[in-house]
Amino acid sequence: MLDHAMRILKDVFGYDAFRGNQAAIIERVAGGGDALVLMPTGGGKSLCFQVPALMREGLAVVVSPLIALMDDQVATLDELGVAAVALNSTLSPDEQREIADRIRRGQIKMLYLAPERLVQPRMLSFLQGLDIALFAIDEAHCVSQWGHDFRPEYLQLGQLAELFPNVPRIALTATADKRTREEIVQRLHLDNAERFLSSFDRPNIFYRIQPKDQPRKQLLGFLAARKGDAGIVYCLSRKKVEEVAEFLSSQGFPALPYHAGLPNELRAFNQKRFLNEEGLIMVATIAFGMGIDKPNVRFVCHLDLPKSLEAYYQETGRAGRDGLPADAWMAYGLQDVIFLKQMLNNSEGDERHKRIEQHKLDAMLALCEETRCRRQALLAYFDEELPNPCGHCDNCIDGVETWDATEPARQALSAVYRSGQRYGVGHLVDILLGRDNEKIRAAGHQHLAVFGVGKGFSEVEWRTLFRQLVARGLADVDLDGFGGLRLSETCRPLLRGEVSLQLRREPKPAQAAKASSSA
Ligand code: ADP
Ligand code: ZN
Repeated sequence: MLDHAMRILKDVFGYDAFRGNQAAIIERVAGGGDALVLMPTGGGKSLCFQVPALMREGLAVVVSPLIALMDDQVATLDELGVAAVALNSTLSPDEQREIADRIRRGQIKMLYLAPERLVQPRMLSFLQGLDIALFAIDEAHCVSQWGHDFRPEYLQLGQLAELFPNVPRIALTATADKRTREEIVQRLHLDNAERFLSSFDRPNIFYRIQPKDQPRKQLLGFLAARKGDAGIVYCLSRKKVEEVAEFLSSQGFPALPYHAGLPNELRAFNQKRFLNEEGLIMVATIAFGMGIDKPNVRFVCHLDLPKSLEAYYQETGRAGRDGLPADAWMAYGLQDVIFLKQMLNNSEGDERHKRIEQHKLDAMLALCEETRCRRQALLAYFDEELPNPCGHCDNCIDGVETWDATEPARQALSAVYRSGQRYGVGHLVDILLGRDNEKIRAAGHQHLAVFGVGKGFSEVEWRTLFRQLVARGLADVDLDGFGGLRLSETCRPLLRGEVSLQLRREPKPAQAAKASSSA
């Protein structure tokens, strides 16, 4: 069987050897078995179903949520001489009928379609009348409510197991922790699927996460050594995307904006330029990236915090697909945390959903405040163990100093409590530093016992401490008001003196800038 697969790999795709798990996966599916494939983006998932599709009799059906991705794959297959089509809503009824005729006559080998289309009763009965080679379910994590892009239509794909009991099914995804994996198996009825898990490590990516101080200046510091490289800078809002793109261009770093609010033509134009020209920076919201295959993206920067580690991994993973050295760089601050928490709180969705999102954000924050190897922490989140520190992230290279923050943390929390649990960090710092200003006087806070107890630390140090307290869940952000801080349940042992608190010591801003430009 492997000879056959090898021949197809060479003759059709023009490659000499299978990568990683590809051969084993292909053997399994070509032999009629189900498979669950977990492989990082760029790992070569497509061949895992394209080769068995060509080895087996009948039509291979590929489910994908992204039209752009389908069109891409169909175009590539076309060039290779494989008869593939994508059925999507942009086709006229006549065109659709013609495709159906060609399928019936056995002239099409691979059919790509969106899940909602596949599960239409008419489509299912059409397919039941045909010889089906296999079902491939791409982006299978979309079936998981725990996953970051849940699509309800995916839930209905479970019925394929009963409707086509003898057709092998292969589910593929690039992001799935253990829990999501289990959900995929359960919801897609893949109990008999063999699991193929590849490592998610991207050893050529250097990870760095910095406290946000003067983000634009920090970004320029990072970019200084990377002039002429292509990269992506992610921002949360459309407005910021445009501002940062303009700013970078004015500083001699040609940059283009990309977000969902731009006219379609301009968006497509910018994307094309980014893909085809060298040395451009794409400043974008998360709307940019799904299905973008540019191998020589040298860096991915985050000027705002992603809302989960899945998103962070996915976005930073667009760097260095060619295997050459690449950077993932992020600046993050308290405002990011407050903003994301507020967004989460105001989002639609039930309590369960919000709790899940909250967990994910906490995991993201934990990576930011991580004192050990970032790569170990990141992979551990995806249930993969890296035995040794990587030696290729900021924490490994710079080392992380920790300090005993127990006493100052208690003072900070005490300032929160005594001022009534409704003030923002600026005011709380004023209390700790004993600043005698109007707002302090108006509230009578110059009489608080904690007033001025924190003069041993600078404003920046107190702000950092507050950020770390929030990131660790020891203080909460008041979500209905204006970002005031509250105590959380978990801070009680600390306040009672039952536990101590070790925090990451942050480099002084000047040092931080230097460290990033020499990375
Ligand atoms: P994924 O879907 O996992 O992100 P793709 O299937 O798009 O990855 O593959 C990524 C790139 O690697 C593609 O350009 C593909 O042609 C190439 N590739 C995949 N498998 C092989 C192989 N065995 N040998 C050489 N190139 C491969
Ligand atoms: Zn490391």
